[in-house]
Amino acid sequence: MHFLRNLIILFLICIAIKINLCVPTIPSSLKTLPIDGHFDFKQVHHAAKDFGNRYSFLPSAVLHPKSASDIATTVKHIWEMGPGSHLTVAARGHGHSLQGQAQAHRGVVINMESLQGPKMKVHTGNFPHVDVSGSELWINILYETLKHGLAPKSWTDYLHLTVGGTLSNAGISGQAFRHGPQISNVRQLEVVTGKGEVVNCSEKQNSDLFYSVLGGLGQFGIITRARISLEPAPKMVKWIRVLYTDFATFAKDQEMLISGESTFDYTEGFVIINRTGLLNNWRSSFNSNDSAQASHFKSDGRTLFCLELAKYFNPEEMAIVNQEIMTSLSQLNHIPSTLFQSQVSYIEFLDRVHISEIKLRSKGLWEVPHPWLNLLIPRSNIHIFAQLVFGNILTNTSNGPILIYPVNKSKWDNRTSVVLPEEDVFYLVAFLSSAAPSSTGSDGLEHILSQNKRILELCEIDGLGVKQYLPHYSTNGEWRSHFGPQWEAFVHRKSTYDPLAILAPGQRIFQKGFG
Ligand code: FAD
Repeated sequence: MHFLRNLIILFLICIAIKINLCVPTIPSSLKTLPIDGHFDFKQVHHAAKDFGNRYSFLPSAVLHPKSASDIATTVKHIWEMGPGSHLTVAARGHGHSLQGQAQAHRGVVINMESLQGPKMKVHTGNFPHVDVSGSELWINILYETLKHGLAPKSWTDYLHLTVGGTLSNAGISGQAFRHGPQISNVRQLEVVTGKGEVVNCSEKQNSDLFYSVLGGLGQFGIITRARISLEPAPKMVKWIRVLYTDFATFAKDQEMLISGESTFDYTEGFVIINRTGLLNNWRSSFNSNDSAQASHFKSDGRTLFCLELAKYFNPEEMAIVNQEIMTSLSQLNHIPSTLFQSQVSYIEFLDRVHISEIKLRSKGLWEVPHPWLNLLIPRSNIHIFAQLVFGNILTNTSNGPILIYPVNKSKWDNRTSVVLPEEDVFYLVAFLSSAAPSSTGSDGLEHILSQNKRILELCEIDGLGVKQYLPHYSTNGEWRSHFGPQWEAFVHRKSTYDPLAILAPGQRIFQKGFG
């Protein structure tokens, strides 16, 4: 009996030792670091959640930094502890990642929103720009720059995201065809590297670090400040939607619009599959040019493609802008009775998704699982993709919007870390699904995930040259294949700026101790 008990105790001790060897323990030295902010070792649950609502990795500590120097001190300390500590660090912007990218299992999460630093500063003149904290929300940048009649050129559809979070990916929206993504509109960064060094970088200064960090999935450094290009801001926006039944005509029109100079300021599109009464929903905010015809138009049981356009203007330019819109619209081949227009302020237009957020939150539908899938698809394969997926793999769009729009690769800088398809024009296709919690039906998580899997398999089997945006993979082989010929350069950059692979553990590209 005694022997058996001792054996069990020995076994448990062995397990405890093994666990201790594999998982990081938070050193007490963190508690004594000379920082202006503070560490929290108890209230850490918030840092194990994100918008995706599917992954949850509890950190051991959350750093609430007051300055870039707090971040540098912490990262440097962990760097000096060496690979044996197993401690990793993830920056958390606004936590709108989808698969735990801003989380750190038993590591340190840096709550970027605590960062204070110098106030946002707008510089007017010939090359207007704004200096902001890496933790700033884009919506705040909009409000501040508008006070000077200026605004950033390139946006995301949703503005309650941080500068550091979107610049680590790309930041793509309907303006990208003209101005490139947000990472094409940054002039300078201040970054804390994986060695805890604070480095200023730009096209001219430490340029390799600058381009590594842009689209770098948080792997090379933590963005503490950014200088963002501005342009004169318009006051108003004409917001237009037209419909197509035929994908080829829809795509042809989209591509024609993004190749022209004086067309629209924003071009996106979305797919509508079997949505009963959808146009009735629009009528509260969009006016139809032909309301009698439009009221007979049926969206249920059909696959439709909606082209969404915006033209910016100031009230004194109204007449000329209306003329330009008429000219551009006359070149399109949409269903004539389906021209819907709205006129809103620039802020209302840019902050449009927030209105949906408020509605969804009030119904308890915001904090549900979001099994999103974002793909970048070369133009030459978009038709086959559309044919195989819309109406086939996907038989309705009631789980959430599906965006689809082309962008010009010439507006992207090939020195950044972002991975793109190999064609001059590629499409962003975003399946933005929400899953009904605990449903086992077609609105449930399992169903949506299996649909996503089928879509990815199809891209693979047909060799469509698709790249994931906001990529997420579990194996090293998948990451290598995602990066393709860029893999070696990516690894080299990692070994230069974060040699111990301390940063961005939630992306799971590298294990701590790498290099
Ligand atoms: P987090 O989720 O907190 O972090 C994202 C990644 O960046 C993590 O790896 C994190 O470690 C890293 N990171 C965060 N801050 C920093 C920093 N300061 N320095 C270095 N690394 C950092 N994307 C688009 O491109 N276009 C869209 O139109 C768009 N629309 C969206 C709409 C909604 C409703 C949501 C939820 C997301 C949307 N996104 C869009 C995706 C969005 O860009 C990413 O989810 C982004 O990562 C979220 O930013 P965040 O500030 O919440 O970052």
